[in-house]
Amino acid sequence: MPLNLSAFLMSVRPPLPPRRTSRGPPPIPPRPSRPPDVDLARALARRPPPPPVKPQRVAPIACLECRDFTEPDAHAALFPRQSVASLDHLAHDLTARFASDTDKARAIFTWLHHNIAYDAPSFFSGNIRPATADSTLSSGLAVCDGYAGLFVALAARAGIEARKISGHGKGVGFLPPDPGAPVPPYSSGHAWNCALLDGTWRLIDPCWGAGALHGTTYQPGFAPRWFTSSPIDFVRTHYPEDPAYQLLSSDEGGPVSWEDYIMEPAGPTIFLDFYALSLWPAALQPPTRDIHAHTHVSFQLFKRCEHMSMAEADNFVFIISLGKERIPLAPNDAGGWSADAYIPSGVQEVSLYSVTTVDGRDAKGFGLQAFKSALGRKAMTFGGLARWNVI
Ligand SMILES: [Zn+2]
Repeated sequence: MPLNLSAFLMSVRPPLPPRRTSRGPPPIPPRPSRPPDVDLARALARRPPPPPVKPQRVAPIACLECRDFTEPDAHAALFPRQSVASLDHLAHDLTARFASDTDKARAIFTWLHHNIAYDAPSFFSGNIRPATADSTLSSGLAVCDGYAGLFVALAARAGIEARKISGHGKGVGFLPPDPGAPVPPYSSGHAWNCALLDGTWRLIDPCWGAGALHGTTYQPGFAPRWFTSSPIDFVRTHYPEDPAYQLLSSDEGGPVSWEDYIMEPAGPTIFLDFYALSLWPAALQPPTRDIHAHTHVSFQLFKRCEHMSMAEADNFVFIISLGKERIPLAPNDAGGWSADAYIPSGVQEVSLYSVTTVDGRDAKGFGLQAFKSALGRKAMTFGGLARWNVI
């Protein structure tokens, strides 16, 4: 039986954690300038955990996309794993200075990127041993389950209610079934988190936020969208075993069925610059990987949130490239950019680019009219954002 979201929230909303009055910040443990030897680490671990700092409630900031995380991100880089004495110390060091749960959780999320590497050898050999938060902290290696477990352990010590969610993730190697193929049975192999941040339950994937596999090699690469994505975006790539953890109300189309999730056709190929420009994958049109020759296609592009500037001065010119044609996208009434194009035969693919430089100069703010008059007359470079196959 599908769960009602508000009933779910009521059932999982925790009692407020106990608050104790703090007499000022605790002493900062000594920071060795090099990784501590075993004796020093043991000595640090024997120190009593610091007392909790009284959190201050702050007004929730609804839009995570617009929020400035410079401070928690910079702070998270100050505590290399080798110098960490214990989970208690780490949780305190990372989070005590922040008043809001959102910033505390962000510092933990960013710390995991800097300090925990994906255990690709274990993943590919199938030899994944169960991890505890302590073992992940000490090894610095984890698969998704280890990231999610360590996130929960640190969040709990920071007074944040967090859970590990198990389910299916459309991760490395995932290919959607062919249209018309039988619906594959539910399967699960991923783990991520759900956390109550400043009064709102959020979905967070610290493993995908930390880096990615390239073939069989792990490369760290910070992907903050796995901290800020809305439940509507999450459910495109994450299917929790318990559908209530989609965090989608019926008004938002939830809960999404397994069939709808797993059978969704592949989308266009999206490149990293697309995310760097704060563009919104779920809104990219057309939404499918394949588009047909001899058809008119409307290409549409949107920022990740409505508060972000659409002004020419703040943006690059976006173009659709098909064969030798370069078609600029123009602002549309829906708050994004669009261009219509006829897809001729003989074209293998269609790409979306941003115009990154003109005559060697940064082309942010160059503008549509300037682009049109410069096209073919000035040297330009382009950054790949997305690509469709023409069939
Ligand atoms: Zn916003």
